[in-house]
This record gives sequence, C-alpha cells and structure tokens, in this order.
Amino acid sequence: SLHDTTTLHNGVKMPWFGLGVYKVQEGEEALQSVKSAIKAGYRSIDTAALYENEDSVGQAIKESGVPREELFITTKVWNSDQRNDSVLEAFETSLVKLGLDYVDLYLVHWPVKGKYKQTWKVLEKLYKDGRIRAIGVSNFNINHLEDLMSVAEIKPMVNQVELHPLLAQSELRNFCKKQEIQIEAWAPLGQGRLLEHPVLKEIAASHNKSTAQVILRWDLQNEIVTIPKSVKESRIIENANIFDFVLRESDMEKINALNENNRYGADPDNFNF
Ligand code: NAD
Repeated sequence: SLHDTTTLHNGVKMPWFGLGVYKVQEGEEALQSVKSAIKAGYRSIDTAALYENEDSVGQAIKESGVPREELFITTKVWNSDQRNDSVLEAFETSLVKLGLDYVDLYLVHWPVKGKYKQTWKVLEKLYKDGRIRAIGVSNFNINHLEDLMSVAEIKPMVNQVELHPLLAQSELRNFCKKQEIQIEAWAPLGQGRLLEHPVLKEIAASHNKSTAQVILRWDLQNEIVTIPKSVKESRIIENANIFDFVLRESDMEKINALNENNRYGADPDNFNF
C-alpha cells in the first residue's frame, strides 16, 4: 500500500511512494495538490528550497489533519547556499517555511564541486542534533559518492537521481545497493514524456492499467523509491493505484531493455547552476 516503507540504513522507515512538487506553484496549486495527495493516502512529499513552495507544502500538512509523525517530508539545500556557505541558514529557513520542527530527509540537491563535502559536514551535525531523521544526496554519480564517503562520518541514506525506463542507471543502482544507499527516482515519468511510448502502452493495455501506472510499478518492483508529480487530483489518485497488480518477469525485461542512457535533466558531472 501507499504506507509501505523501505528501511534506510539508520533504521528510519521511508515510504516507497510519494508526491513530487517540482514546478508546482506556491499558493493554491501547491496547497491543493499536497492536500489531495494526503487525502488519497500519500504519506511522503518531496519538495526543495528551489521549488519555492515550502510555505504551501507546510500549510497543506497542517490542514491535512494527519499527525506529523505519520508523514515523511523531504526538502533539499540549493546550490547557491552551498556556494555561499549558508547551508545551516538555508536549513533553518526551510524549517520555518514548512512550519516544522524537523524534516524526515534533507538532501544535498546537486554535487556542487569543491563544496559538497563541507555541506555534508553541516548535514551530519544537524542529523546528530536530531533536527533531521535522515540525510542524503541528490544527483550524485558513483564518483561523487566515493569522494564524499572518503571523508564522511555518516554515509548518505538516500541518493535521489533522474531515473526512468530510458535512463535506468543500472551501475549506480548496483553501487548504491552494495553501500546500503536507497535509490530514489526523480522524473520517474520522464516529466510526462514517456507516457506515449509504444512498448509501455502495450504492457499497460495488457494489465488494464495506464502507462504511468506501469512505469511506477516498475520502480517498486525494482526497489526504487518513486515520487511522481501531478497537480490534477484524478492523476494523483491514478498514480498511486499501483498496489493491485504485478508486472510479469517478461514485462520487466521489456522495460529494462528500453534503456538508452537518455537524460532529460542536467548531467551531474557537468552542470552550471
Ligand atoms: P515526473 O516524471 O514526475 O512527471 C510529471 C509530469 O508528468 C506532470 O507534470 C504531468 O505533466 C505528467 N503526469 C503525471 N502523472 C500523469 C498521469 N497519470 N497521466 C498523464 N500525465 C501525467 O517529473 P518531475 O516532476 O520532474 O519529477 C518528480 C519529482 O521529482 C519532482 O516533482 C521533484 O519533487 C523531484 N525532482 C527532483 C530533482 C532533483 O534534482 N533532485 C529534479 C527534478 C525533479
């Protein structure tokens, strides 16, 4: 169910499934999408300082009536705060906007060169102080993870990366599995661009499911945490309705064969923001 969790290497339980809110407008849009999701049974919300909607996410959490401890809230420190050495201030600002006294997961949004190790020290301190239940990274390739772990006291619990059938990230997934770092997919639906893929459509038809549901089910069967975004209540409900069917081994193989190492987002080894 939507409440099913993976256990991170520090024992904290994180839902396999959640709502992403990238590019969701602060105000009514963010408020309504998060409230609809929680009403539909979602317990995990993925935001970031960059998305500029933490205020509305926080308001939705309050208005949802679901006890705080039943929710799993993720936010992220943005690159400019790494460059300005203002990670601690950024964390405090996010907490105030969210109206929370802790977050469940705090992520280093991108591996800013020459900065992410210092950033990690701040996250480790916040974690040890009990301000964050789990700490992790985002957009880290194997080289970034190895470099970070060469100095880290605490291994990241999560690595959130672009991952979908056209960018399967097999090597990174294997590496993270060995290191007990939970992989989480961003843009699981290829930001909506994979929904007309003929192979996915055919598999979906054979299960009487939508293409989105097939992709999200593929994530779960691969032990990938997934956080599809939608602001439409009907799609928020549809995306979560993936616990009543199972992809066959042959379906999984067909989807696995679609990988083209095709990124829609920036390359973590070479980005300029
Ligand atoms: P996504 O793959 O979740 O696609 C979302 C888009 O797909 C929607 O805007 C909508 O157009 C379409 N869609 C969703 N459900 C649908 C359905 N059932 N039927 C038809 N169309 C549907 O893309 P995303 O929002 O970029 O990624 C998900 C989340 O990952 C984000 O919201 C954000 O929380 C996170 N994210 C993180 C990073 C990072 O750098 N860490 C980057 C991008 C996104």
